[in-house]
Amino acid sequence: MQEFNYHRPITITELKECLSIPGARILAGGTDIVPRMRQGKFSVPALVDTSGVKAMRFIEDQGSEIVLGALTTHQEAADSPLLQNINPALVTAAESIGCQQTRCRGTLGGNIANASPAADTLPALLIFDATLLLQSLEGERRIPLEEFLLGPGQTDLLEGEFIHSISFKPMIGSWGAAFIKIGKRSGMAISVANTAVAVELNDKGKISDIRIALGSVAPTVIRCRKIEQALLGKEPEPALMKEIHKACQEEISPITDIRSSAEYRNHAAEVIIHRALESAVEQAKERGR
Ligand SMILES: Cc1cc2nc3c(=O)[nH]c(=O)nc-3n(C[C@H](O)[C@H](O)[C@H](O)COP(=O)(O)OP(=O)(O)OC[C@H]3O[C@@H](n4cnc5c(N)ncnc54)[C@H](O)[C@@H]3O)c2cc1C
Repeated sequence: MQEFNYHRPITITELKECLSIPGARILAGGTDIVPRMRQGKFSVPALVDTSGVKAMRFIEDQGSEIVLGALTTHQEAADSPLLQNINPALVTAAESIGCQQTRCRGTLGGNIANASPAADTLPALLIFDATLLLQSLEGERRIPLEEFLLGPGQTDLLEGEFIHSISFKPMIGSWGAAFIKIGKRSGMAISVANTAVAVELNDKGKISDIRIALGSVAPTVIRCRKIEQALLGKEPEPALMKEIHKACQEEISPITDIRSSAEYRNHAAEVIIHRALESAVEQAKERGR
């Protein structure tokens, strides 16, 4: 591991000052950054440990929006009754991450900034059109998560900026949301493919709103607008699998890597979308009763 300067701010103002040091990077839970530093794949002149910045660790209902501090851990998201009610897909995604030690250290902000195409919380945030609040000494800006993700490990984060919080609007009416992940084993596995699906049914039982996100099938986690379009207005029935198959072929072009073949990913994506849709529809019907 290369030498680096270590900073531990307590307030957000101190965090902004620390991150204005050229090349400084955040050390949040360290579950991505520390293994990479140990392998010699990552070196920086200064690491800014955010474990003391309590003001960025919260899950809040702010009326029209749910706001999550970027330092919220996966375990805190998994244990949140508010999120269970407002975004059950995010709760399932957070529960699926690594082991308990990883979930207790790893943060939502770290999962986002790391920008892995296989990151598990990202599909569940994308289906709620999540927006990020980025801050720095220069000021602040908001950016949709979808625009923030530029490629594997690449984001729109500028030098000196950090993710302060993530916000999204709750769904209303008869809606449901589910997350499903396929890994090489049932626990402690990076996703071979993952999906989050949110659906809203109208009073005739037809799909009036649908949002689908997929991970591990493209350079970033993606919203699948062609598949959404193909399903909008339809009745949720088993025959929709055909529509999903057709639209999936047009929408995704996964690669073969050490975890899976492209062919398997294609098939897996269709199956998990269908299963997540079934689960989301069930919840929507339950809410509509
Ligand atoms: C054993 C193990 C199992 C894992 N399993 C999974 C899994 O199943 N699914 C999954 O998705 N991931 C998994 N991961 C990856 C990792 O746990 C997650 O990506 C986690 O959310 C990273 O968060 P962190 O706080 O540990 O990030 P860190 O390692 O502290 O940081 C990661 C990157 O994000 C930057 N960063 C962190 N916070 C901010 C912020 N607020 N603003 C700007 N930049 C920031 C850092 O500078 C760094 O570049 C696993 C990791 C391990 C070690």
